[in-house]
Amino acid sequence: AKGAGRNRYSYFTPTLQVAALNRMRLTSDLRGALKSQQFALYFQPIVHLGSGAIHKAEALIRWNHPQRGLVSPLEFIPLAEASGLIVDIGEWVFHESARWVQRWRQQVHSEFQVSLNQSPLEFQREGSSYQGWLAHLQSLALPGQSLVVEITEGLLLDASSAVSNRLLQLRDAGIQVALDDFGTGYSSLSYLKKFDIDYLKIDRSFTRNLAPDSSDMALSEAIIVMAHKLGLKVIAEGVETPEQRDLLAAAGCDYGQGYLFAKPMPADQFDAFLRDNAMP
Ligand code: C2E
Ligand code: CA
Ligand code: CA
Ligand code: CA
Repeated sequence: AKGAGRNRYSYFTPTLQVAALNRMRLTSDLRGALKSQQFALYFQPIVHLGSGAIHKAEALIRWNHPQRGLVSPLEFIPLAEASGLIVDIGEWVFHESARWVQRWRQQVHSEFQVSLNQSPLEFQREGSSYQGWLAHLQSLALPGQSLVVEITEGLLLDASSAVSNRLLQLRDAGIQVALDDFGTGYSSLSYLKKFDIDYLKIDRSFTRNLAPDSSDMALSEAIIVMAHKLGLKVIAEGVETPEQRDLLAAAGCDYGQGYLFAKPMPADQFDAFLRDNAMP
């Protein structure tokens, strides 16, 4: 009977099973990761293109798995969402971000801002509010504008009241909002007028193909003009070359982020980086 069982098993597609097993293992490891301090928050500078000043950074989570090494957030955030662990992870990201932004406001620039990512599930979670965050920020003597929450545009398409309520809560707390990966989704521009958004982040896929007179250049220019007319600041993601930086600056883009300036790095390393590069 045992042999027959094995034979029967081989009819299933092995790669799917391996992938499913892998996800289950990772999810179970994820449960212990917070307690065992396996997460690290990395920071990547957001550079003001006009002056070169660095008064903003994006917080990006890393998971240092004891056996596998660094696991990409692209791999584990979906598992964290599916298992509900995203709530605790998001709270940890918030507390770490608040701790560091407090230091950088004191030591680097009084208006330093840290952006943190919220996945759709995390953002829309029922019964949540930003009251706890606001209270914690107040206990650190930090205003809401110390933080920016990055959400993706897909969220705004689903014009449910949950999403607009959450945006209003952020507004009430003084926390700013950035629209991440702009241009990749089913970009409908009407919601930029409808919702109160502070920053628009042009997706890396546009930056990558920037060249004078290219269609991505024309699109980026149009996005920048439109955003400015609506009172939003623009951040270009994935700036890797001086040419891309110069084209974006010439098009009036406010900020750039990408490997040209620095890769995301551990917080203490970023702290040292700011000392050398932030500018008054
Ligand atoms: P994202 O929010 O679009 O973050 C930007 C990603 O681009 C980061 O990948 C960053 O390391 C990478 N990047 C930055 N500059 C360059 C560049 O010049 N060239 C290239 N090729 N890539 C660049 P990362 O850190 O692997 O994060 C991937 C995604 O995981 C993020 O995309 C975000 O959606 C998600 N994520 C990261 N941290 C968190 C978090 O704390 N919470 C949640 N919910 N999601 C997170
Ligand atoms: Ca982001
Ligand atoms: Ca992005
Ligand atoms: Ca992205």
